[in-house]
Amino acid sequence: MDFATESCRVPPVKFTPQKPSLFGETLESLTDQLEAAGFKRFRAKQVMDWLYKKRVDSWAAMTNLPKDLRSWLDATYILYPTAPVIDKRSNDVTQKLLLELEDKSLIETVLIRAPQKGVGQEDSRKTVCVSIQVGCAYGCKFCASGLAGFRRNLLAAEVVSQLMHICRREDAHTERAREEIASFDNIVFMGMGEPLANYDTLVRTLRILNADWGLNFGARRITVSTSGLAPQILSLAGEGIAVRLAISLHGATNAVRDQIMPINKRYPLEVLLPAAKAFQQRHGRMLTLEFILIEGVNDSLEQARELAKIARELHAHVNCIPYNTVEGLPWKRPSVPRQDAFVDVLRQAKVSCTIRREKGHDIDAACGQLRLKTEKDRVTAEV
Ligand code: SAH
Ligand code: SF4
Repeated sequence: MDFATESCRVPPVKFTPQKPSLFGETLESLTDQLEAAGFKRFRAKQVMDWLYKKRVDSWAAMTNLPKDLRSWLDATYILYPTAPVIDKRSNDVTQKLLLELEDKSLIETVLIRAPQKGVGQEDSRKTVCVSIQVGCAYGCKFCASGLAGFRRNLLAAEVVSQLMHICRREDAHTERAREEIASFDNIVFMGMGEPLANYDTLVRTLRILNADWGLNFGARRITVSTSGLAPQILSLAGEGIAVRLAISLHGATNAVRDQIMPINKRYPLEVLLPAAKAFQQRHGRMLTLEFILIEGVNDSLEQARELAKIARELHAHVNCIPYNTVEGLPWKRPSVPRQDAFVDVLRQAKVSCTIRREKGHDIDAACGQLRLKTEKDRVTAEV
C-alpha cells in the first residue's frame, strides 16, 4: 500500500524548479559547485555569511564578492523561492505569512509570540511554525491540511526560506540581527504537512539551520511534530541531530486513534510507542505528546487515564490543545470544565502537562486553514 498517495484527492506533483534556490545548498555542496565553476573554495563561506548572517536579499548586496562571481550566482540560482502573498497580524501575538511558490502553490508560516512577564512585546519569546509539504497525504479527520489532499513535498530551500522571511522581518525589531543570531527563539515543524514523510528535506533543512555557517540554530530549540511514522522516528534518532520530538497522539487507545488518524492502521500504538521510546532514550530528552481535545471523541476521563499511563511510560510531557474548529468539519472542542477535568486526571497521575489556550484562533492559525481559505477564494474567483 502506498500510503502517501492512498488518501489523495488530487495526484501528487513532481516539482523541479527552473533554477534552484541558493537556500537549498549546504556549505559543502556550494563549495563543490563554486570550485567546478572555477571560483576559489573560500568564497562559499562568504556567500553563506551574506545569506544567514547579514540576511541580504540581492546579489548586488554581496559586496565583497567579485563581480563575475555575482553574475555566476545570478545565472545559476535564485535567492528566495517563496514570495509573500498575505502578511496577517493578529493582536500582535500571532502573525501569519502566506507564501506563494514558483508553481503557484501556497504555503504558510506562522510566528507566535509568547508574552513574558516584565518584558515588552518585541522581547517576547518567538516561535516560528513552518510547513514542509503542500497539503498532506495522511488525512487526519480533524485537520485542515489533510482536507485538500497532498500536492507535493517542499524542497529544503522552500523550508529554509520560510524561516529567513520571518527572520528578516523580525530583524528590524531586535538587536539580534547586529549580533548575527536568529531573531526568533524556537522553530516548530507544525505547519502544513508531515515532516517525516518528507524525510530528506527535513534532514537537509535541519543541517542547514543547525550549522555554524548556516543559521547556527540549536537543535534543542527545534521541534519536529509527527503523526506517528514509526520507521522514520527510528531513522531520525540515528541522524545525530538532537531535535525535540512531538508525537501527535490525539487518542490513547487504538480504537480512538483509528477513528481519527488513518496512520494508526499502519503504525498502531504497539509499533509507534516503542519507536518513540527509542528516540527518547537516544537523546535523553523528554518527548511531547500532543493531544487535541475533541468533544465526544477523545475527551473522556478513561482516555485521560490511558494517556497518563503512556506519558509515564515514555517520560513525556503532555500538551493538551482544545480543538480549533475548521470550516466544513463537524468537530468541536469540549467545554472548559470538561477540558479541566481531563487535565486534572493527568495532573493527579503526576504527569507533566500543559493546556494550550491557543493563540491566533481569530486568524485561522490552526494547521492549514489560511491556505485552504485562500485556495477556496481563488477557485471561487476563477469560476
Ligand atoms: N503532520 C504533523 C505536523 C503538522 S500538524 C503532525 O500531525 O504532527 C501540527 C499539529 O497541529 C498536530 O499535532 C496536529 O494534530 C494539530 N492540528 C491539526 N488540526 C488541528 C486543529 N484543527 N486544531 C488543533 N490542532 C490541530
Ligand atoms: Fe497531516 Fe499532521 Fe494534518 Fe494529520 S494532523 S493531516 S499528519 S498535517
